[in-house]
Amino acid sequence: MADFDAIVVGGGLTGMSVAYGLLQRRLTVAVIDEGDVAHRASRGTFGLVWAQSKGRAMPEYARWTRESVKLWPAFAEELHERTGIDVAYSNDGGYMFAFSEQELEQRKSVYDEICAGLGLKHPDYEILDRKAVVADFPGIGDAVRGATFCPLDGDCNPLALLHALHKAFLIDGGKYLPGHRLAEIVQHGSRLVLRTTCSRFETDRIVLAAGIGNARIAQSLGCSLPLRPLRGQILVSERAKPVIPRLTHAVRQTKEGSIMFGDSHEDVGINDLTTAATIRSIAGRAVKTFPFLSSLRIVRSWACLRPMPVDGFPIYDRIPRHPGVIVLNTHSGVTLAAAHARIIATQIADGTLGKAIRHFSINRLDVQATH
Ligand SMILES: Cc1cc2nc3c(=O)[nH]c(=O)nc-3n(C[C@H](O)[C@H](O)[C@H](O)COP(=O)(O)OP(=O)(O)OC[C@H]3O[C@@H](n4cnc5c(N)ncnc54)[C@H](O)[C@@H]3O)c2cc1C
Repeated sequence: MADFDAIVVGGGLTGMSVAYGLLQRRLTVAVIDEGDVAHRASRGTFGLVWAQSKGRAMPEYARWTRESVKLWPAFAEELHERTGIDVAYSNDGGYMFAFSEQELEQRKSVYDEICAGLGLKHPDYEILDRKAVVADFPGIGDAVRGATFCPLDGDCNPLALLHALHKAFLIDGGKYLPGHRLAEIVQHGSRLVLRTTCSRFETDRIVLAAGIGNARIAQSLGCSLPLRPLRGQILVSERAKPVIPRLTHAVRQTKEGSIMFGDSHEDVGINDLTTAATIRSIAGRAVKTFPFLSSLRIVRSWACLRPMPVDGFPIYDRIPRHPGVIVLNTHSGVTLAAAHARIIATQIADGTLGKAIRHFSINRLDVQATH
């Protein structure tokens, strides 16, 4: 039996961001992780640190995203200083292309709604016509009619981010236990006993950051968590000289020269297989946007499941009747990593989570207790 102030279940981006933040608040922390047999969104993600399209139906989410985006520069720098790992963060703004006037108009009305919800006097995005887009992206396809541009948007290397978080966690004295699948959580008075396939721990706080796996764990604690897996597929090209000069939400060129293509959203249940139809559609849209990409070879593709709360907004809350068990789920674990490390970790450490961020409670989802 080992004793920690907090045990985090899940060593993906959410779990490691919070675990790293908890260590900085001087808690003793262990992270248990099932390993590659689990679905692991953080290993298959695209890498956007993205604000512009987030929070249409919930201004608090738009605000939360922007808060994280603002914390990102110092967060990336701190990880670099502490670990020597450059997460390749850049924040020169991001573009979303439109293929018709109507699409551009629709996008504009979405962003106007987001900015109105935020109470912004001046929108924090720009509408670019085709001429402005051509100036920023020489060689862009004729099909592109315009774009929205938001200066807040950026990207990073998400695998380097995950690596840096793991390294920083170990440097700061955290205990990482791979190959440990959560078997059971039992409440003993105010204390919690957590058993894995090969160990037993006692603690006051358990943070569930098991991604899509949170649904099953919450169920075992009498809470039916409305999460759905949402598949995304990504293609990666061979390395090329710099050809995509700025960040776009569906095509990004990495610092090493590979070009990543993505942005599929497929509601197909627990199924992380790639499909020819989606790969064709992603590649087709990319070539329509940047015709010069048609000669590049695709060298890798994968599919991965987003852990998606049913209404699309994060869940940060305590499990009903088990106040020491905290559940964290988001489909924007890269973007929100800075807020998770800085803000959510502080609220977990000082016991204010849930009081501070009510909009992201489980209750809003009309969750039923199952026993
Ligand atoms: C294709 C795609 C593109 C994306 N693009 C972006 C993007 O550009 N920007 C962005 O912000 N977000 C993006 N996301 C979303 C982002 O990747 C996720 O929000 C994030 O990775 C979720 O991290 P997590 O730690 O919550 O979950 P995961 O990464 O799934 O981690 C869960 C961890 O829990 C462990 N686990 C599971 N069950 C158990 C158990 N019973 N016991 C112990 N351990 C367990 C697993 O091993 C795993 O390591 C994308 C997602 C996908 C799929």
